[in-house]
Amino acid sequence: VAQNLGNLARRMRLQCHPCGWVPPDATVMQAVQLHFQVDHDTSDIRLDLVPACRCGEAMTHTGSAAHGGEATDFFRCGVDGNTGYITRGTEPSGA
Ligand SMILES: [Zn+2]
Ligand SMILES: [Zn+2]
Repeated sequence: VAQNLGNLARRMRLQCHPCGWVPPDATVMQAVQLHFQVDHDTSDIRLDLVPACRCGEAMTHTGSAAHGGEATDFFRCGVDGNTGYITRGTEPSGA
């Protein structure tokens, strides 16, 4: 049954942009460099910061909504349908 995981701010993690590989928590930068060199034949490291579902799968961005001074991004897990969101405060108005 799909669940609403609520705010995903604490579930953010890095993953490889080209292939979705997730570096283990203890991974040092050298391992990330090695992954790009071996798997992608490049030294150009590109990682995405994405929320991870309880099942371990990276969640997919499904939409955004702006409300007041905040923007909310909605995410969904493609495996079990769990949903959640990230709220981003927009820049302070400085007023
Ligand atoms: Zn990769
Ligand atoms: Zn999931």
